[in-house]
Amino acid sequence: MSNRSVGQAQCPKYVYIAGRGHSGSTLLTLLLARHPKVAAIGELANLSLQMARDESTRWVGRCSCGERPFECDVWGKVLREIGEEEGVDLEKHPFSWKISDVGMEEEFRHTAFIRVPLVWARNRCWRLLRYLQYLSPAGIKQLFGFYKPQKTWAENRSTLVTKFATVCNVDATIDASKDPLDMLDIFYNATVPVKIIFLTRDCRGNVWSMLKRLAAGERRSERVVSASREWVQVNGRIWRLVSDLPKSNWLHIRYEDMCSHPDETMKSLFEFIGLDSFDVSGVPSGPEGGADHGHTVGGNRIRFSNEKLNIREDRAWREKLTAEELDLIVKIAGPLARDLGYDL
Ligand SMILES: [Zn+2]
Repeated sequence: MSNRSVGQAQCPKYVYIAGRGHSGSTLLTLLLARHPKVAAIGELANLSLQMARDESTRWVGRCSCGERPFECDVWGKVLREIGEEEGVDLEKHPFSWKISDVGMEEEFRHTAFIRVPLVWARNRCWRLLRYLQYLSPAGIKQLFGFYKPQKTWAENRSTLVTKFATVCNVDATIDASKDPLDMLDIFYNATVPVKIIFLTRDCRGNVWSMLKRLAAGERRSERVVSASREWVQVNGRIWRLVSDLPKSNWLHIRYEDMCSHPDETMKSLFEFIGLDSFDVSGVPSGPEGGADHGHTVGGNRIRFSNEKLNIREDRAWREKLTAEELDLIVKIAGPLARDLGYDL
């Protein structure tokens, strides 16, 4: 880690991973972070929530180094400096300096409208307003532009990643927040250059990974249908949205290609981000190779793992899904999957 001052001016690339959950974003993040000039920051949209999560919540919010954000060598330094510059006590009031729409409603999920009704309602309003701003027909879009809280969130996030990149001495930071609205908030309002990676996974593999998490009492056939529809909805939306952005700002990557040809895939990604080429296979991982957990502040549990990074494609769906289930998935998700280059 560099000892350079956190305040030093720098303009790192802001790499945003967009996609549906369980599409391999953790693996992609870990592979990107093998580059010496790249640092993963996790699901940054959840940073304030992670700071707020303590012994009284479902789990304690931690950085992947194992520390609470303020005790972490990197985040602690970044957050304290921001607190001083902005005149806010982030340790006591994590949501006083916002970087996304995520608030305590995310902690309470299905009971949020009872536990934190005002925060829940505000989040709904913010989302609706941004949908109207981004997705309305061109002629009426400006009607909804009277209030844009996302501008401040993205500016704050730019400040955050710039400081983070300076502390870690890197040229690019990876935000794996994945949300399409959040992605546009960043794209249109960040003060640093933004590169979007649109990551997809074969609908059959993605639906299978959703089936592994069936809720009690939930019927498997119903979950196959709902997960397939969600796959189409989320990927279709992201695809429509990125297609409207300049081609130099986004790149579509398939999880399966990343696993079968990691070197070629990562080479094209580093080039897209504007970094020197780097051979990701040449980096040892796992405890014997000196595992580096980095400092990601939200996301999958794998980020805490000491195990060797497994780049092999998870193909369990081929054995686990029945012929009927496969037919159903292909019927629902087939058209979009083929458009995205999947051979179904
Ligand atoms: Zn840390």
